[in-house]
Amino acid sequence: MRITHGDLDRFVEQVRPYTEYGQIVEYIPALAKVDPSQVSIALHMLEGECVTAGDTEETFTIQSISKVLSLAYILMERGEAEVFHRVGMEPTGDPFNSIAKLETNRPNKPLNPMINAGALAVTALMPGDGLEERWERFRKFLSALTDKDTLTFNDEVQQSELETADLNRSLAYFLRQHQVIQGDVEELLQLYTRQCSIEMNCQELARIGAVFARDGICPTSGESILPPYIVRICKTFMVTCGMYNASGEFAIKVGIPAKTGVSGGILGIVPGVCGIGVYSPALDEKGNSLAGWKLMELISRTYDFSMF
Ligand code: GLU
Repeated sequence: MRITHGDLDRFVEQVRPYTEYGQIVEYIPALAKVDPSQVSIALHMLEGECVTAGDTEETFTIQSISKVLSLAYILMERGEAEVFHRVGMEPTGDPFNSIAKLETNRPNKPLNPMINAGALAVTALMPGDGLEERWERFRKFLSALTDKDTLTFNDEVQQSELETADLNRSLAYFLRQHQVIQGDVEELLQLYTRQCSIEMNCQELARIGAVFARDGICPTSGESILPPYIVRICKTFMVTCGMYNASGEFAIKVGIPAKTGVSGGILGIVPGVCGIGVYSPALDEKGNSLAGWKLMELISRTYDFSMF
């Protein structure tokens, strides 16, 4: 399949007007400072080429996109039985930070690992002795996915998140009360906010997508990074819960396993074809990138990427 920079450039300019109708996330103050008119996209083809368009040098924090990465990592480290003892496999239909079903659901475990409560339960399983060792081990795992050893998190965003994380803090305390997690909640919040604040551009995000699109094989070295069964679990969660409580609509209109974040990033996986990284920070009312969604829709329709 031949997708050119010119094609993507046209699509980016076609969706850019939508940025005017979205809102920048406000509950994390450091995220509120970005220019809302930005749009960028990268497609990392499995043959190796990365086709890009728009404001591609712009970096952003990956926020909830990290939930797919921490899930893949913990499935590798701890195995399916341990993970699914602590989180379920069902969509909630609620906003990503909702506490409602945690209380009413029996047992009181989070319904899936793509909502904040579920991601906190997954991150709580990160192995290692203390914050720095736990972080460093996760960072090493991510380096294999991005093929880059210099991956960092944005300090300012992380601090800002920590200072405004009382809802996440309360989710974590609730989980500890119900024995879903153990250990120090503040250390967990530090780890979780670091993973949300990991910074990259859309090319790097697309590169991660390409590993998943190739069933866990590194697109450049041909080395196996993730077992195919873990890729399958991640892709399934991306379809059922990846676009918050708009995942059903996204499956119908776009049909690509995807994970969104409140910074306006979207990770997409087109199995056997490419990984997609999209960034545009103005969000719709459910927290998905408005222009980013439109761009994914356009790409999917044009190249017949829907898996359904
Ligand atoms: N750090 C954000 C939070 O925990 C991530 C939310 C998101 O991107 O969905 O609220």
